[in-house]
Amino acid sequence: MKRVYLDNAATTPMAPEIIQMMSEMMKTHFANPSSVHSFGRESKTVVENARKSIANLLNTSPGSIFFTSGGTEADNMAIKCGIDDHKITHAITSKLSHHAVLYPLEDLEAEGRIKLSYIDIDESGVVSLPHLKELLANNPRTFVSIMHANNEIGTIQDIKAIGEICKEYNAIFHSDTVQTIAHFPFDMKELNVDFMAASAHKFHGPKGVGFVYISENIQIKPLLRGGAQERNMRAGTENVYGIAALAMAMEMAYEHLEEEVKYIKGLKSYMIEKFKTEMQDVQFYGKCTDMDNSLYTVLSVNFPETDIAEMLLFNLDILGVACSGGSACASGGSKSSHVLSGINPESKRPGIRFSFSKYNTKEDIDFAVAKLKELFN
Ligand code: PLP
Repeated sequence: MKRVYLDNAATTPMAPEIIQMMSEMMKTHFANPSSVHSFGRESKTVVENARKSIANLLNTSPGSIFFTSGGTEADNMAIKCGIDDHKITHAITSKLSHHAVLYPLEDLEAEGRIKLSYIDIDESGVVSLPHLKELLANNPRTFVSIMHANNEIGTIQDIKAIGEICKEYNAIFHSDTVQTIAHFPFDMKELNVDFMAASAHKFHGPKGVGFVYISENIQIKPLLRGGAQERNMRAGTENVYGIAALAMAMEMAYEHLEEEVKYIKGLKSYMIEKFKTEMQDVQFYGKCTDMDNSLYTVLSVNFPETDIAEMLLFNLDILGVACSGGSACASGGSKSSHVLSGINPESKRPGIRFSFSKYNTKEDIDFAVAKLKELFN
């Protein structure tokens, strides 16, 4: 049966070149990078070269990059250590943050260690900068966690402006950049960001590896205790081939960024056009149709409330279309989404997120829209 994969914001397929490199490296670089013999030193070189390469791509120093098991660990490390080690008692986030951010913050609040404020957002999920200033002015030194782009609706925040406000108020700024690293250019010399998170599987690398960026102005203690890896900042034997693959995936992404952005934007526009011209009453979430202020990889839409719509995700899967979704209110076919209910609590229309990569084609989109039309007719 023909199937199309339109769930690239959940994870991307690995690039064949990276699979090839990793499987070779598993044979040649099996040694522990902490071992002092030549085998170990060779593994260590792989890890350090990957760090340098990633740092170059972000215009920062290798000392700011710490490898982790992925985005969740990077976010947790930034939040828990950033707050604890700086004796922070107030944090700000948005209700639309990923659970890798919301849950550790909510835990700290439940333990009575911080007061947690939620920043005002508009109907697209864009945070209010005047409210940020107000919250910062009326509270002690604050930890701010605002994601760069939302994984469900694709809304992008102006992290440069947020960083400048945080600097003005001496706040610590963490941004969950899991959906944007290797999809947008970053210049860390231009951004006042203290912590950022990245995950290789969002840009055709393997799962279970990522990094946390920590600015040179910030000192923290490690989250995981044990060995002295990552300059005593992240214990545990390094995922050598995963780290090499992470760097390779980032290098590939940035080398071809312009052409890939253009290609994927083309796919997204094509799907928007098809929804507008071939289907009725399809609504677009957030700023999804605004190409410059939303993820070009994500098109988040909602469909009319009908019996069939309730089980839309399930039905699409049966017909060979892999995408993801969630409703504002929990319904039979899909789980309730804190993001969709955060922007539109009353809506019962089922939301579907289509997300694209360089491996998708217009035929994939034709196929998905044809199946949707079949379901609605
Ligand atoms: N933050 C965002 C915005 C994400 O989309 C994800 C992945 O779903 C994560 C964090 C977690 O990353 P990982 O899967 O690498 O733990």
